[in-house]
Amino acid sequence: MNARNRTNPYWPNGVTLADQNDQGPDIFYIQAMLNCIPAYSWYASAKGAWIWVNARTSAYLGLPEMHPLCCGEDIGNDWKSHLALLHPDDRATALSSWEESLHASSRHEIRARIRAADETYRWFLLRAEPLRDSEGNVLLWLGINIDIDDQLRADEELRILKERLVRSTQIAAAAAMSASIAHEINQPLGAIVANAHAASTWLTASPPNISRMRIIIDRILRDSNVAADVVQKMRGLFRQQSPQKRPVDISHAVQQVLAVLDADIRKQGVDVIVDIPAGLIPLFADPVQLQQILINLISNAIDAVDGRPSAERRIWLEAEAEVDAIALRVRDTGRGVSDSDRIFETFYTTKPKGMGIGLAVSRSIAEAHDGSLSVLSQPGLGAEFTLKIPYSNDIERAEG
Ligand code: ADP
Repeated sequence: MNARNRTNPYWPNGVTLADQNDQGPDIFYIQAMLNCIPAYSWYASAKGAWIWVNARTSAYLGLPEMHPLCCGEDIGNDWKSHLALLHPDDRATALSSWEESLHASSRHEIRARIRAADETYRWFLLRAEPLRDSEGNVLLWLGINIDIDDQLRADEELRILKERLVRSTQIAAAAAMSASIAHEINQPLGAIVANAHAASTWLTASPPNISRMRIIIDRILRDSNVAADVVQKMRGLFRQQSPQKRPVDISHAVQQVLAVLDADIRKQGVDVIVDIPAGLIPLFADPVQLQQILINLISNAIDAVDGRPSAERRIWLEAEAEVDAIALRVRDTGRGVSDSDRIFETFYTTKPKGMGIGLAVSRSIAEAHDGSLSVLSQPGLGAEFTLKIPYSNDIERAEG
């Protein structure tokens, strides 16, 4: 490294970009460095015009070899010429952000879609930093584009998955509630109808106030029927959809659910041990409903280990093939189940903010798959929930 470079490792003291172009090798040195870095990079003039992109970026954009951006030739483009490479919807935001950075000579960062050689777009995080001389004047802008497309897509998929699960849970909760409401309301409805018939009989006594009683009876009958209709309609509206079954890789389903619950697992400091043999035959199940069960069981296990010393907060997820079903076990080191008969009842809960719906819904989903959900537990020693979903018959039917 020469004397100039010792005072500023990136750029010689007091030398302008124009000087550098005259001197040649230093700019080539920067180009060579940016070509070595396994990233999409570029630099722009002090005024903001993109002058050069590294080989990786040029390949992504599909630029011909002699394109000015590949040669590093300043052909007098203006500061916003690179916006043509961005998705039209991202240009306005990119323009004002770039303008702001140029004006303030400060770091630039923006998310935008950049057009690839095949005319598709991928999301990038565009970052640029000004490179200054010793007096603080900007000599050029060094930029890097980080490909965040896969990450954004994964986040989006996760968001959609969460939304579907929430929706599915809401429907299931509403189904359980409407069943319970129907149970509660049908009794008084029956009484109203019985009263109406009694009043009707009373009308035959003397002296009967026929016109008055007739109105009352009509009202009672009308209201009873309206209430019964409402209950019927509610049940129809919220009935849990029948399972849309297809082959589901249990290991994949478990990983997806763990990704959804990742924040809770880390917050509670729970150690989750997954033991699912490779190559396990796929289940034939509704993937969303299956994930709903897994979310309920794992969330309950996370709640159950809360309060244990951190080294003892453990959950095991194990699966094995049985004669005609896959058995998936969710085992925890929690406080254990105090009443294993009642926990599957709708609205049974021992939690201050619990709804007591999760296990009832999970069991009904398991049964709709011709499977089962059961629990083994010794109070104080943890709980083990076993979900069994048959595969053989349905798979044969699917293949047949
Ligand atoms: P919620 O979680 O809203 O209470 P659930 O139907 O999922 O509703 O659970 C019902 C009850 O079953 C819980 O309140 C809890 O008492 C008990 N339970 C469920 N899972 C476990 C577990 N892993 N360990 C101990 N108790 C559990």
